[in-house]
Parts: sequence; structure tokens; C-alpha cells
Amino acid sequence: MRDRAPSLSARMFRSILAFTLAGIVVFSLALAAIFYLSFEHKAASDLMAQTHRAAQYLDSESPEQRLAVLEEQFDGNVRYTLINANGTVVYDSAAPGADLSQLENHGDRPEVQEALAGGEGATSRHSATLGTDTLYAAAPLADGSVIRLSETRDSLVAFFANDMMPPVTIALLAAAALVLALSRLLTRNLMRPLDRIDVSAPLENTAYTEMEPLLARIDSQQRTLRAQNQELALAESLRRDFSANVSHELKTPLQVISGYAELMAHGLVATDDVRKFGSVIHQESQTMRALIDDVLALSRLDEKGLSADETALVDLTATVAHAAERLEKPARDKGVSIALALQPAQVSGSETLLEQMAYNLIENAIRYNYPGGRVTVEVLTEDAGGLSREDDTRQLATESANPLQKLAILRVSDTGPGIPPEAREKVFERFYRLDKSRSKETGGTGLGLAIVKHTALRHGGSVAVDSAPGGGARFTVILPQAR
Ligand code: ADP
Repeated sequence: MRDRAPSLSARMFRSILAFTLAGIVVFSLALAAIFYLSFEHKAASDLMAQTHRAAQYLDSESPEQRLAVLEEQFDGNVRYTLINANGTVVYDSAAPGADLSQLENHGDRPEVQEALAGGEGATSRHSATLGTDTLYAAAPLADGSVIRLSETRDSLVAFFANDMMPPVTIALLAAAALVLALSRLLTRNLMRPLDRIDVSAPLENTAYTEMEPLLARIDSQQRTLRAQNQELALAESLRRDFSANVSHELKTPLQVISGYAELMAHGLVATDDVRKFGSVIHQESQTMRALIDDVLALSRLDEKGLSADETALVDLTATVAHAAERLEKPARDKGVSIALALQPAQVSGSETLLEQMAYNLIENAIRYNYPGGRVTVEVLTEDAGGLSREDDTRQLATESANPLQKLAILRVSDTGPGIPPEAREKVFERFYRLDKSRSKETGGTGLGLAIVKHTALRHGGSVAVDSAPGGGARFTVILPQAR
């Protein structure tokens, strides 16, 4: 299973909290350091001033009096040390009355050295173990000795740990509480436009600019899905119509057959009529057979991909001639003559399907013709000069054909009533008939031209109908020639 996606609001809350807290900590530290350093600077100069005052005061006393003065006057936080010109400690307020000879020589201390040299000295020493900083200030006395004052305070680190910790902690806690409330508010405000997105109309949202590519994608995908659904629905409804039509077309001859057969079975048909009834039954079963053959042919054409026998090299001329030959008798019966004008042409595909196609077109041209009419069947090619590049026949059925591809054309014209322009697309639809009763009586299934169209498409070609010069119908099939 996929991991749960992280929560935007939780992430936002964490980031805001982390940034705010880090900000507070850094700000407090910086502020405290500045504060401490300026404080220390002031303390150092105060101590220096105090040292000068002490020096002046001690200079006004006799050397004998000094110790007494020091012991009386100066005490408190500040430590006083009186150092001889040779560096020995004469007095130290940190150890009053101690054995001064025990104290180490102070002559090497930098602030003392500076004072001994006649100037004034100030240093600061840090004790990591005690966590303290000690300021020293030394000034020379008139007799060459040195008075040194020192003051010890918490070091910067200790100052932070002791003095800054409580207020900073309180500030951090308060900030965390504030951030909690604010981030809730912020998150809610940021999320509101996202919550309001209407996915069913992606492009009508005005959430965030950053969302636009995503919404555009959703929109285009929804369009695709809608289009696909429509196509599927259309295909499904066509399929359902087709099944309903087939059942309906089968039912009529079946009812005739079953009615006549029942009469005969019950001995209700006079002997003279048996022949007639038998022939009707035969005719109707032929109709059913033709219909079933056409339905099977169409469903094969609906399948995708060419089968092995559909990629053979086919002699179109011979195939068309053969179809015409098979229709000689029906043509004679109707008093229609067939004229052939066939140039040699080869196409690649299925001979069976191509012959069926020619057969359907010629059969229609005979059936939908006047007695004594004419059917002209032509096969034309560019190489044989039957077709020029500008030929409107070439234009008629092809728009998408590759202009470099050589074409073969099958044209079947008749001298019948023709097809009115508004029906010229529809005649290729399944079960579409211009004149239902006449088509039925001539034995048509209503599927012949649908098979022609699908066969042409299947061979990379197309078919169209217009009217022949005399007003009859002229069907033109365009096929790519075999290379
Ligand atoms: P049918 O089996 O009814 O002939 P087709 O699909 O072959 O079915 O033809 C569809 C309809 O187109 C026919 O019913 C007819 O009305 C019309 N049609 C086909 N060929 C011709 C033609 N040569 N002349 C006039 N009408 C035609």
C-alpha cells in the first residue's frame, strides 16, 4: 500500500514553529551579547576611574597611613591590591591580614607592568572553571608603587545560563503558543481556496496561479474521458441498433417461411400451390442466407488488423471481371447490358473482399436500373493514362490519400434513377434504403454498400457516389496500387 501523503497543515505548522523559535533564540542571544558587551565596557571604564580616584587619594596619604585607609575605606565588591615597585604585594583586600609574603609576585601581571611603566593598565581575565570574568585596572602612585582594583562578575556564558535562561524560556513557550494559534489560522486561510476547488469545472477555479497547470491537466483529461465516453456510447448504440435491425430483418422471412411450412404440414395447401409455396420458402431462405452472409462479412470487417489472406497481391482487373461475369445472368434477366473498360491494376489486400465489393456495386447498378439500361464498369490507373492528377474522380473520394501514392480506381456507373445528393452519404450506412419496399423486393439486405465502404477503408481507400452524366448513379472506389 502507498504511504499516506504528508499533511500540508502539519508541515506548515512545524516549519513556522521551527523558524519562529530559531528566530527568537538567535535574536535573544544577539541582544544579550550586545547588552553584556556594552555593560562590560562601561564597567571597565568605571573601574578605571575608580582606580584613578583611589590613586589620587592614596597619594595624598603618607605611606604609613595607606594600609589603614585601605582597610577602612575600601571594601565591598571591588578588590584592592597595593603593589610595590618590585612587584610584591603590600596589601590585598581579598586577603586582609594574610601573610603577604605567601602571595606571589604581581610584577608580571600585564596591567601592573603597564602601571609600573608609568601608564595605566586594564585587563580582563576569564576563568572557565569558575565561569567568571575578572576586570583589572591598575594605576601608578607617586612613590612608584601601584594600586590595582579588580572586580569579578559572571562570564558571558554564565550570564546567559543564569540570567537569560528564564526570560528566553518564557518567550519561547509564549511563541510556541502563539505560533500554534497563528499557524492554524494561516493554514486554514491558505487551504480554503484549495478546499473550494470544483474539480468538475477545473478551469473556472481561481485558487492559486500555481494550481493552473494541474487544473488544466485535469480539464484536458476530463475532456478526453468525456469524448471517449461519447464514442463508447455511440458505438454501443450503433451496435444495439445493428443487432435490433438484424433481428428485425431476419424475422420477416422467418415468419413467411414458418407460416407457409405450417400450412403445408397441416395439408392445407392444394397440390397445385405446393410448388408456389415451396418457391416462396426457398426465396425467403435465400434472403435470410444473404443477410447472414452480409452480417458475417461486416463483422469480419469490423475486426481490427488484416488477416494473412488480406495482404496478398490481387489482380484487381481480373477480380472485377470475375464479379461482372457472375452477374451476367441477372443482368440479362433484367435486360441490362454490362460494358467493361478495364485497365490492368494490382492492389494488395483480400481478393475475396475485393470481389465482393465489385459484386455489390455491379449488382446494385443492375438492380437499381431501368429495364434496357446500361452498366459501365471501369478500372482506371494513372500509369495507363486512365486518370490524371487533376481528375475530379481522384478528388472525389480521397482527401487524405498520399499524393505520391499511385491509385487504382474502380468506377461503376448506371443509367438508373440515381441517388439524390442528400442521400449520398447515407446509402453507405447499415440498413439505410432509399426505397424500402423496392429494395426488399429486389432482394437487397441493406448492407451491401456498408460492406463496400468498409472494404475500401480496410484497403486504405475510400468510396463515394455522385451522378453519372445521364443522371444514373456513379460509384467511385479509390484504392492504393500495390507497389
Ligand atoms: P440494398 O441491399 O438495399 O441494395 P445497399 O447497401 O447495397 O443495400 O444500398 C443501400 C441503398 O442505396 C439501396 O437500398 C438503394 O436505395 C440505394 N442504392 C444503392 N445502389 C444504387 C444505385 N446504383 N442506384 C440507385 N440507388 C442505389
